[in-house]
Amino acid sequence: MFKFLFFALFVASHAQAFILADKNYRLSKPESTSLKISSEGCAAAGISDAILKDAMERAVEIWNDVPESRLKIKVGSKSGTSVTSSTIPKGEVIIGCASLGAGTIAGVTNQDKANGSARIKMNSDFFNASQLVGFVGTVVHEFGHAVGLTHSKDPASVMTYESNGWNYKPSYLAQDDVDGVVYLYPNDKQLGGLMGSCNSYAADGKSSQGGMGIELLFGFFGFLALWKVARKLLNS
Ligand SMILES: [Zn+2]
Repeated sequence: MFKFLFFALFVASHAQAFILADKNYRLSKPESTSLKISSEGCAAAGISDAILKDAMERAVEIWNDVPESRLKIKVGSKSGTSVTSSTIPKGEVIIGCASLGAGTIAGVTNQDKANGSARIKMNSDFFNASQLVGFVGTVVHEFGHAVGLTHSKDPASVMTYESNGWNYKPSYLAQDDVDGVVYLYPNDKQLGGLMGSCNSYAADGKSSQGGMGIELLFGFFGFLALWKVARKLLNS
């Protein structure tokens, strides 16, 4: 009982940690979204496409690594869309640099709710060729916004606002991030597979119980028949 209560409390508190950016927002093509460099890329900040691509590949690798989710992103070819455009083609998340002002803003993600797509602006006033500390962490975090999550209060989450100062390169998602992505894009095939194995287990149990029932029934009638025969013999 205590174990169950603990489990229930754990699940309840856990489920409240990740937060959706917008309850109606989802990537329109979760199984085949391309993360692409915007038409301008980060050239204005002196950051090459190769550096940008390395960070994008890390983000894709991390967010794809959730078997219970159908989200599968790949790094695509360069996009013809600017990161300042408010309309992003379906099936795309684009990333590039834009001037967001000096200060602590490392990046901003805007979702195109109508198309189920997003754009990630890395701040060219924050990052440049000689200041790349936290660049990868920021791309991983901003991609979480593109997926549909907003800031989590779980300090282990890549979506935490406190963010460890972004001075890190996460190599895996926290359980909270995994829960968020599974909630947004559940892998029905995986869940169906689990249900199937549950069902066949239940059917096995049922059929063996049914078998036992039939055996008992035969046993009862068999005993009745024998008893009748015995009585006839005794009476004769
Ligand atoms: Zn954020």
